[in-house]
Amino acid sequence: MRAVIQHGVRDVRVGEWPLPSVQPGEVLIRVRSVTICASDIHVFAEGNVGGVSWDQPFVPGHEAAGIVEDSNGTRLAAGTPVVLDPAVACRACDMCADGLFHLCRDLRFLDLPPVHGAMRELVAWPAERAFPVPEGIDLVEAPLIEPLCIAVHALELASRPGGAVVLVAGCGAIGLLTIRLAKIHGAAKVVATDLIPERLAAALDLGADATVDISQADPVEAALAQTGGRGVDLAFEVAGPPEALQQCLEAVRPAGEVVVIGIPSEDEYCVRASELRRRELTVRFVRRQNENYPEAIELVRDGRVNLSSVLTHRFPMARAQEAFELAERKGEGAIRVAVMP
Ligand SMILES: [Zn+2]
Ligand SMILES: [Zn+2]
Repeated sequence: MRAVIQHGVRDVRVGEWPLPSVQPGEVLIRVRSVTICASDIHVFAEGNVGGVSWDQPFVPGHEAAGIVEDSNGTRLAAGTPVVLDPAVACRACDMCADGLFHLCRDLRFLDLPPVHGAMRELVAWPAERAFPVPEGIDLVEAPLIEPLCIAVHALELASRPGGAVVLVAGCGAIGLLTIRLAKIHGAAKVVATDLIPERLAAALDLGADATVDISQADPVEAALAQTGGRGVDLAFEVAGPPEALQQCLEAVRPAGEVVVIGIPSEDEYCVRASELRRRELTVRFVRRQNENYPEAIELVRDGRVNLSSVLTHRFPMARAQEAFELAERKGEGAIRVAVMP
């Protein structure tokens, strides 16, 4: 079968890849769409993400949806459209026993070594981690349910989103979905920052009350101005660069909270200790999502979240290199880019 194979930094090509062997409890899925995540872009452009590097060649992609090709005796009938949860917890360790499946000590993840990703014609994946996609949801957009789960999880980690003035720093897909979720949770006001005009426009579409173009204005000053100098109650760092975390720490009020979703390119933060200590700030880190698929699917099914505002480009598999380049460049208004095997 054919697959998108990364051979080196900024070098992905379509080539032949062995057919997956379907293990007990797994279904065989014909992949329809894989969206390119910020973490995939780190691996494409830098060869690693968060200190994990890849033996090449490998198949990228963990945000995936497709059609069950072979049920393999599981509850999923052939022909069922499904979205994959890329994380498979062991369900036996102490973290799993505590319900913290995303922090499992023996987690298997689609596209993390030694598991190859989903950007190929067929993938075998546990039926328990493949969720039926309700009618009416475009299967090419369905992989975005994974980043939506991350926004759902980030909001469930935040202590008081209802009634809060919220800053969302970074309007990529997860940032935009976080804006939407913050509004659904009853945030009083959401201020969004980015430097790409199309992303700021998308932020307004998804419910942001104010946007700040950080190429024109200082994000901390802008956040303070939006709150009469008080500072926001809650900030989501969804941009990645360490400066964005520092800005969030400065933009929140005393006893405020910063929820960190972004991944910095260098695996290190340097923040002013006094900032955190004197103002008794809470900083929460987000590790992907934890069993949030049913809730995220429901949000899309009932129309509270519209994924089409986040999926901007679709490429056939043969043009995967172009798709990755566009996703890295963030050109042409690209937010999430889909590759369609
Ligand atoms: Zn992702
Ligand atoms: Zn476990």
